[in-house]
Amino acid sequence: METKDIAALKRRLLQRRHRVSGELSRTADVARKEAVRSASGELSMVPDHMADVGTDAFEEDLALSLMEKEEKELAEIDDALARLDDGTYGICEGCGKRIPMRRLRVIPHARLCIRCKRAEEEGERSCRSLFCGSSNV
Ligand SMILES: [Zn+2]
Repeated sequence: METKDIAALKRRLLQRRHRVSGELSRTADVARKEAVRSASGELSMVPDHMADVGTDAFEEDLALSLMEKEEKELAEIDDALARLDDGTYGICEGCGKRIPMRRLRVIPHARLCIRCKRAEEEGERSCRSLFCGSSNV
């Protein structure tokens, strides 16, 4: 991989890290407020149409699952930055081949090439499938 590509990817990862961690702290804020509000039962700030039973819990749930997603993305970005430093960046963890640059430009923290990613997703799908009788896994 060329030095200018590495520098560009690193910059991209750092920008993304900055953005996601900003989103994460905002989401954490929402989750905290929703938790406090649903715990205290205080609904005075909520417009009438939003004050349906369960809305607070729903918002809190939504914020928590979003936080989980953002935390995971941050971890993946950190991982990618570490791989950039130790020189294993851009190698597919599934098949050991180089991940094409055009894929890394779109998803700089990708760990798998498209083929392995698809195989992983299909594996996940088939295991959850109703018809998955695979006892040989
Ligand atoms: Zn692969």
